[in-house]
Amino acid sequence: MSDQQPYSFFQSVEKSFDRAAQFTKWEKGLLEQIKACNSIYSMRFPVKMDDGSIEVIEAYRVQHSQHKSPCKGGIRFSEAVNQDEVMALASLMTYKCAIVNVPFGGAKGGIKINPRAHSIYELEKITRRYTSELVKKNFIGPGIDVPAPDYGTGEREMAWIVDTYASLKPGEIDAAGCVTGKPITQGGVRGRKEATGLGVFFGIREVCNMTDVMEKLGLPVGVVGKKVIVQGLGNVGYHSAKFFREHGSVVIAIAEYEGAIYKADGLNEEEVFQHRKATGSILNFPGATNLAKSGDALEMECDILIPAALENVINSTNAANVKAKIIGEAANGPLTPEADEILVAKGILIVPDMYLNAGGVTVSYFEWLKNLSHVRYGRMEKRFTENMNSHILSQMETLTNKKVGEAERKFIMHGAEEVDLVHSGLEETMITATREIMEIWKSNPAIPDMRTAAYVCAINKVGTSYAELGIFP
Ligand code: NAD
Repeated sequence: MSDQQPYSFFQSVEKSFDRAAQFTKWEKGLLEQIKACNSIYSMRFPVKMDDGSIEVIEAYRVQHSQHKSPCKGGIRFSEAVNQDEVMALASLMTYKCAIVNVPFGGAKGGIKINPRAHSIYELEKITRRYTSELVKKNFIGPGIDVPAPDYGTGEREMAWIVDTYASLKPGEIDAAGCVTGKPITQGGVRGRKEATGLGVFFGIREVCNMTDVMEKLGLPVGVVGKKVIVQGLGNVGYHSAKFFREHGSVVIAIAEYEGAIYKADGLNEEEVFQHRKATGSILNFPGATNLAKSGDALEMECDILIPAALENVINSTNAANVKAKIIGEAANGPLTPEADEILVAKGILIVPDMYLNAGGVTVSYFEWLKNLSHVRYGRMEKRFTENMNSHILSQMETLTNKKVGEAERKFIMHGAEEVDLVHSGLEETMITATREIMEIWKSNPAIPDMRTAAYVCAINKVGTSYAELGIFP
């Protein structure tokens, strides 16, 4: 389905960077430094498999930038892993963190394996050995480089990493901050699971609240009543659909790889998820119409299209048929560069992946802060807030001689739990990033699209950081 790419992944990131760099004031040498991958660790190590055979594992960790410490980025388990891909993903992490004001440099890791072809014990051995290789070369640590989950990895692998790290660094009080995406019991943070989908919602909602942007698209302000189509009912797609629906949008279609369904008055993502679980397919959902092909959902009339499945799903073969007014890139790289050009020329607003799906890394930052402070968010102030609110409320009731209703009372009294604070921090982050990118776009009419504006935003922040630090003699 994907277009033939004339460039490697890393080269195509460099190309987007160069296109945006012309709208910045930085000198050539500094731009070269921002673009370059600072440290590349390519490793091979042996692992004894369950049948007694020895397999040599190919793995990488790339630290693209140390303009802020530590650097941060996921670890991917996939047979497609190669150095170029890890370099590209590490550089995107630098730009993503800069845009959302997460004070980390970018990094990425990859292990070239098919996780489904290994037993859990083999995966544990591979993960632990990879971690000890990183420790040996000083490529991991709460102040050095902090991995996270990516394709093929999750909480389980992160727990193995933190355990290996802590056992190799006895007494290191901040060891839990060496990796994020951990189970809650191992120092993880509440609100991580829904973070990316919620971030997608907050980012698009902010765009929809901009009167001038909506006027240009011929849409009313706000998300209420907007018709949304979501591709992919996985973690990101499910939560994006959920938050749009809960805030008054109508999710008219959902696509999965086996097909797509349409319902004009709206689908409930949880009901669709349960139907798929019970029947093995999204199709034949009560009250909905099956579309002929899964890809048809991408070409339907709607206000907001959220591709949240795979890369390159909108390409030169289908881009001309896309009728959405706004595309929110929840997945990484859902549009090919050719599709991007076609859609921009059609006047469709593309809200770019580089910042729109940054909810995961933002909440990872909150997890790291939690680990360094050794206390759960909300623990210190929750009771205090509730006691204070109770006092204010009873004073108001005494003075006015009126009683507040039960639901209102509960809402006003509520002291913030960890998940409330994480959601609030994410909301603030996504609103600020959206406004910053839009300001840059509006300030220079020559900037062709929001993606380029996002790159300009990232380059300016990393450039400022390098310029202020100076070049070490
Ligand atoms: P996931 O595996 O939970 O969900 C992906 C879903 O897409 C699955 O349900 C799968 O069946 C479906 N799918 C696969 N091929 C499809 C097709 N051709 N048409 C329709 N649906 C299809 O993965 P996820 O974590 O939700 O990630 C989705 C995308 O978001 C990826 O590009 C990922 O890199 C990106 N992303 C994820 C996070 C995160 O926190 N999970 C953060 C940033 C970016």
